[in-house]
Amino acid sequence: MGDTLREQDGPAAALPHHAVVGLGAGPANLSLAALGGDHVPGGIVLFERREGPAWHPGLLRTGTQLQTSWIKDLVSLADPCNRFSFLNYLVSTGRIYAFLHAQYESIPRLEFARYLGWAAKELGTVRYGSCIRAVDFAGGRFVLSGSDGSPVATADHVVFGLGTRPDLPPCFAGRQIAGVVQAENLDQYLSTVPSLPYEQVIVVGGGQTGAEAVLGLLQRGFRDIRWIGRRQWFAPMDESPSANDFYRPTYLRFFQGLPQAVRERYVAEQTLTSDGISMATLQQLYQVNYEAYLRDGRSPVMMLPGRNVVRAAERDGAVALWCERDWGGQERHAARHVVMATGRRAAPLPLSDRLLSMMETDAASGEPAVESDYSVRWKHSETHRMYVQNRSRLGHGLADPNLSLLAVRSAIIVNSLLERRVFDIKDEQMNTVWA
Ligand SMILES: Cc1cc2nc3c(=O)[nH]c(=O)nc-3n(C[C@H](O)[C@H](O)[C@H](O)COP(=O)(O)OP(=O)(O)OC[C@H]3O[C@@H](n4cnc5c(N)ncnc54)[C@H](O)[C@@H]3O)c2cc1C
Repeated sequence: MGDTLREQDGPAAALPHHAVVGLGAGPANLSLAALGGDHVPGGIVLFERREGPAWHPGLLRTGTQLQTSWIKDLVSLADPCNRFSFLNYLVSTGRIYAFLHAQYESIPRLEFARYLGWAAKELGTVRYGSCIRAVDFAGGRFVLSGSDGSPVATADHVVFGLGTRPDLPPCFAGRQIAGVVQAENLDQYLSTVPSLPYEQVIVVGGGQTGAEAVLGLLQRGFRDIRWIGRRQWFAPMDESPSANDFYRPTYLRFFQGLPQAVRERYVAEQTLTSDGISMATLQQLYQVNYEAYLRDGRSPVMMLPGRNVVRAAERDGAVALWCERDWGGQERHAARHVVMATGRRAAPLPLSDRLLSMMETDAASGEPAVESDYSVRWKHSETHRMYVQNRSRLGHGLADPNLSLLAVRSAIIVNSLLERRVFDIKDEQMNTVWA
């Protein structure tokens, strides 16, 4: 290992060096750069594999809305006077009046994507088109390598904000089946495939993305849609005041101190406070389905809850799906187009074997052991920190994969990086007593 260190030290020394780099320029790392940039010499540089600003670009259809208050922007919960606030974005772009008069209860997802693009531009430290394939530790610094394997930069500290990618049921693993499309590619797919409105389409996945895919198909004129979900019902998100208490810094601290078995149970029980369908989306879908029946004598959407897709195959130019039913037995559905909206999983961490061997990982998941300040436990963590955002819902609760406590998580990381309390996270008037 010593030889490798010396070999890599030479070329690495000539690379641009940064105090803190972030991998990924999604909301997580943009928030970090917006809150921490002014406190780090040279700002926090973000390497982003996309060619330009984008936030879930295939899922910004008209009518889709943020499930989080716009007050919970990149910075405001930790630093409301910060120039990267959503309010400053609206005022700076001259749209504050038009926005207010449109009277949104929830803002369009497209608006949030535009806000992120504005923040990235204002920051000026996002390096687009920079996919980082490997992070190594050599010569007393992190070495980042790009797509072709050559080193592109070095850093003292690294923050991973790589987000998630679509997940598929095991029966689809490693297979390309013609006619099966990810929900985020649906619009693009339909613009290239000749399809008739009366053709059958199956949507698999009973969450928000599945519901939006069904609505999107209805808007395009499809009239024979089967919607398959695993739960007993297409469950709405619990946005009640008591459920929202899970998304407070006080609860976060309580949760982090719980034994693992309790955290696992709580995360499972709280899922619908995060992963349910917006009530507005459900109502819209039910109303479109109802009105279509009035007009055509037939509802376009057949809801099929309580079914788990266990097998998929191409059959006579269509896709056949076999579903295990909650109440026993299997049934088969077939359609020319199948839209998959079956959840997301964390993007892989691009770590060299050497770096991985210096880290403490969870035996079951292989994921890094994450401290309460989101730092990773590893050999040189006293002097060189690694942090991970949005990949520890079991350790940090359901706020971790969500936008709700985005600014709070970034503030905790900045405080930890700088080893002083730059941001004071206040959460007074807690009427619910957890412990
Ligand atoms: C359609 C949709 C809507 C959502 N709406 C809400 C909502 O309303 N409220 C809420 O609380 N949560 C919402 N979420 C959940 C979550 O808040 C978002 O997924 C959010 O984008 C997570 O932010 P992130 O920065 O962790 O990850 P991402 O937004 O996924 O960003 C990660 C970035 O890292 C880049 N990247 C990945 N690998 C590399 C690499 N090797 N090198 C360089 N760059 C890389 C990616 O290109 C990406 O831009 C939503 C999720 C989806 C899918």
